[in-house]
Amino acid sequence: MAVLRHSCGIVGMFAAYDVVPSLHRALLVIQHRGQESAGLSVFDGDEILTARGDGLVSVALTKNKVAGLSGKCGIGHVRYSTTGSKSLVNAQPLTVETAQGTVAVAHNGDITNFVNLKKSYLECGWSFLTSSDSEIIAKILSKYLARLNDPVEAIRCTMSELDGAYSLVIMVRNRVFGVRDPYGFRPLCIGKANDATMVVSESAALTTLNLDFVRDVAPGEIIEITDNCIVSHVTNTNLSPAHCVFEWVYFARPESIIDGGEVYDVRKRIGATLAREAPADADLVISVPDSGRAHAIGYSLESGIPYEEGFMKNRFADRTFILPDQKMREDAVSTKMNPIKSTVNGKRIIVVDDSIVRGTTLVKLIRSLKSAGVKEVHVRVGYPPVIAPCYYGVDMKSRSQLIAYNHSVEEIRQIMDANSLAYISISGLVDAIGLPKNSLCLACVNSKYPTKISGETFRR
Ligand code: 5GP
Ligand code: MG
Repeated sequence: MAVLRHSCGIVGMFAAYDVVPSLHRALLVIQHRGQESAGLSVFDGDEILTARGDGLVSVALTKNKVAGLSGKCGIGHVRYSTTGSKSLVNAQPLTVETAQGTVAVAHNGDITNFVNLKKSYLECGWSFLTSSDSEIIAKILSKYLARLNDPVEAIRCTMSELDGAYSLVIMVRNRVFGVRDPYGFRPLCIGKANDATMVVSESAALTTLNLDFVRDVAPGEIIEITDNCIVSHVTNTNLSPAHCVFEWVYFARPESIIDGGEVYDVRKRIGATLAREAPADADLVISVPDSGRAHAIGYSLESGIPYEEGFMKNRFADRTFILPDQKMREDAVSTKMNPIKSTVNGKRIIVVDDSIVRGTTLVKLIRSLKSAGVKEVHVRVGYPPVIAPCYYGVDMKSRSQLIAYNHSVEEIRQIMDANSLAYISISGLVDAIGLPKNSLCLACVNSKYPTKISGETFRR
């Protein structure tokens, strides 16, 4: 069964005015979380209306597409699917008719018991329209909405059937809820003004919309928002959280604040830690833009070695990471990035990137640096070696694709043809984030999973 993975972006809003323009802007701000499809659902006073489309927000939700939509509450979604069908049928928000009226759901994360859940519901005679794990959430919720008067109770019961990672925004007719799984894998925060409340994946959207950041949704918490208040329904969990470390390292925007840590600040601390853990004798620090920039600046400030732009990135180039074959990924890296010869020629260079997954990006970039005449290349990486797959929403699938799973650091250095290669340590990374180690998910770097996954080691 093809499983869709989601590292998406979600937003929900309730205001004293039409929320469509604000939701649209919020989706633009969280566009980096998903570029494959985008959608909006609003309650117009009578029914839920939805617009969805493939591609970027600007393409999927054109003026024409959202022209008929208006309402004081709504939710939105940008989707980053990495496996399975990319067809529009999987675009979100997903809407279903239930005993309590139309419900719209938008989801970020991966439900790890999806295959088993789907199998058991298929055996009960249920049918599904999409290959996405978000549909099963909507259908289980509708099962409980038929039995229970209170949508909060229905959401609580739905959560008890789900394992894995999910941040959700749910609209039950004109009621808007934000939900975070008991581990808080994926981010979700709340913002407020006098006449509007928003729940959104990243706080950067609140800044854009002039809403005050209130707090993160707590792991396991269900909140309801209205135009002037936030009601919290905490589901008691005794679990320690497992916030995804990769959000700070790569996924989130630098100006977002996630679970108390500003992403830019964390990245700079990672760079500084790398400079202490793995110094190098060199003339210049450069980054692999854009995601490695803050780490590189941190390295430069700590080491005293100057920072310069060593690569020019083509902002219109396609994403390289999810292309289906290796040749396409390599070509895409060269289309995306060229070295700036005057910066690097004849110099000993420290190249800082946020992470190495397959190794494609750096192998290609080091070759291009050598052609541009660098004397030495010292690679420093802001994330420990990725040795195990992610089941919680980041596209790191099978071990065989992970260069650090079957190669030592020295072997990777040789493959990259670098003069030296060093990764940040796990403890250095944890300290840079500033949260206790047992509140983070580090499964992809230590192979210990916070939830039970067949064939993998459970961390407790
Ligand atoms: P590699 O080329 O080693 O496979 O991937 C590492 C590079 O891709 C790094 O520059 C990093 O910023 C970026 N990257 C890491 N994880 C992801 C991801 O999940 N999605 C995308 N689009 N890029 C990623
Ligand atoms: Mg990058």
